[in-house]
Parts: sequence; C-alpha cells; structure tokens
Amino acid sequence: MQKIEHIGIAVKDIDAADLLYTNLLGVPPYKREIVESEKVVTSFFRVGASKIELLCSLDPNGVITKFVEKKGEGIHHIAYAVVDIEAEMKRMEADGFKLLNEKPKQGADNKLVCFIHPKTAGGVLVELCQERP
Ligand code: ZN
Repeated sequence: MQKIEHIGIAVKDIDAADLLYTNLLGVPPYKREIVESEKVVTSFFRVGASKIELLCSLDPNGVITKFVEKKGEGIHHIAYAVVDIEAEMKRMEADGFKLLNEKPKQGADNKLVCFIHPKTAGGVLVELCQERP
C-alpha cells in the first residue's frame, strides 16, 4: 500500500456537504462525478497528498442510502493506493480477507477499485485503488 488515497464520507445532500467541506477544508471540490455502477454522486477535495470523497446516493435502495439510514452521515471507507491491484487482491485473499469484488472495477476519479469486507478488516470498509493507466 502506498498511501491513504482518500477517505470516503457518506452524506445525505451533496450540495450541503460540498458547502460544509469547502468551509471545513478551505478549498472547493475539484471534481464532481456520477458513478453509474454504484448509483452515487461523488465530490472530491484535495487535502495534501490525500483526498476526501463525498458519496451521496442516487438510489433509494442503494448501499449508501442504507448506510446513512443506519449510521447517519460519516466515514464510510478508507481507500489505499496500490501499484498492482490484482496482485494486492490475491495477496489479501490468501491472507483471509474477504474481497467484495471478484475483479477490479471502475471507480470514481479514474481508478480501478476493489472493496474488502469490514468484518475481515477490523470493522472498516477498505477500498484498494489503482490509478488507471
Ligand atoms: Zn472511495
């Protein structure tokens, strides 16, 4: 793992959250992007070498909707940058981590991603992400 690429934060209202995080971080988001496969709208802020990713559900039955209903707004996942996501997935699976994706999939912000089940990762949903070539 190279670094914490971003921290994903689930929000109810992307515009309200954009405003809050613009004030909190002192910078506006550099990107807003819809991830069709996840049915979410995301907003990205740079914080030094890491990023904050706001996630807002576009689907009343989606995982982010359920997360916010159950736990409220807040930290949803921690994403680690990796050089070779397939190698990292193999290593982690062999080490007993439960992968939530069989193959890397297209994530937001030009990344290939794979999620690791929080039950096998100390209660934290982990995202591996590799910059797309
Ligand atoms: Zn993420």
